Amino acid sequence: PVSPAVRRSAELEQQLSLDPGRFRVLTGDRPTGALHLGHYFGTLHNRVRLQDLGVEVFVLVADYQVLTDRDVAERLTEHVEGLLLDYLAIGIDPARTTVFNHSAVPALNQLLLPFLSLVSVAELGRNPTVKDEIAHSRQSAVSGLMYTYPVHQAADILFCKGNVVPVGQDQLPHLEVTRTVARRFNERYAEVFPEPDALLSAAPLLLGTDATKMSKSRNNSIALGAGADETARLIKGATTDADRHITYDPARRPGVSSLVLLAALCLGRDPHEVAAEIGNSGAAGLKRTVTEAVNTRMAPIRARRAEYAQDMGYVREVLRTGNERANAVAEATLREVREAMGMFL
Ligand code: ATP
Ligand code: MG
Repeated sequence: PVSPAVRRSAELEQQLSLDPGRFRVLTGDRPTGALHLGHYFGTLHNRVRLQDLGVEVFVLVADYQVLTDRDVAERLTEHVEGLLLDYLAIGIDPARTTVFNHSAVPALNQLLLPFLSLVSVAELGRNPTVKDEIAHSRQSAVSGLMYTYPVHQAADILFCKGNVVPVGQDQLPHLEVTRTVARRFNERYAEVFPEPDALLSAAPLLLGTDATKMSKSRNNSIALGAGADETARLIKGATTDADRHITYDPARRPGVSSLVLLAALCLGRDPHEVAAEIGNSGAAGLKRTVTEAVNTRMAPIRARRAEYAQDMGYVREVLRTGNERANAVAEATLREVREAMGMFL
């Protein structure tokens, strides 16, 4: 059975290609480490495709949200620069796409205050992604920011009136929060915000080398910028099982199947076919196929990344220019919000 979110994504795809000018996309990442293959197939690839379709795209470096699951943001500058390099390497074009960071856009953050007044504490506590993240949290105690960051995310999306959000599956509960905030604001004050839709990719949940969600902070990921040898080493250490016959069966064989899927995504092929071809060559054969597929697919991205890394002045300029534009957009929205709420202007 096809889930409503998947069905809605298919409808959206059609509308996006027919009328890209009607849409505005907001997506982003936390500067907590290097972007990985889960990001690439889960969302990055979609961002570039939408940009190239002519949709206006905003890409957020979510620096304040680093503090949701840890006490301090470590090596922030290094991680921000890493994200910028990854974006440029995959084909984000700063002339068409606005790349900005949270902390540089005060008016966006101010939207959090009225938005928090629109949701109940009970609603925040029920969010399944937040529960999962609390389980993996490195914080000494669960902070208020952990509970409220889905509302902060509503501010991220709504400050630019984003109506399409290309995300992985873990983000669906958060998008519900954003839709609720938009709807309640519009009902309580005035029609200001769209109710955005999630756009799921073909790989909304790629698993890492330990067969749980690939995450930059779980030591189970293969970075976009990883070298060919490092990629081989990581895949060699991936969790598989004892059955030599390779099949694609995500529910019963998560480890093996996630490797099959990764190869299939890199090759642009069907995972069942890829599994059938590997057949009885066992985990070692599977890992050889995956390593080669990943390294071939990522080679041009890795080469471009290395080129941009030679000119960090330009890379930082991309963020400065994006921040200027994001500030103008955020200030205009905040003015509208304050006006709708009857605040002294
Ligand atoms: P962290 O471990 O620091 O939370 P992360 O790897 O989960 O990092 P985020 O910055 O939280 O990455 O997520 C950025 C975007 O990438 C989100 O849209 C998320 O849904 C998507 N994403 C993250 N991991 C995956 C994955 N394994 N498969 C598909 N999409 C993913
Ligand atoms: Mg995450």
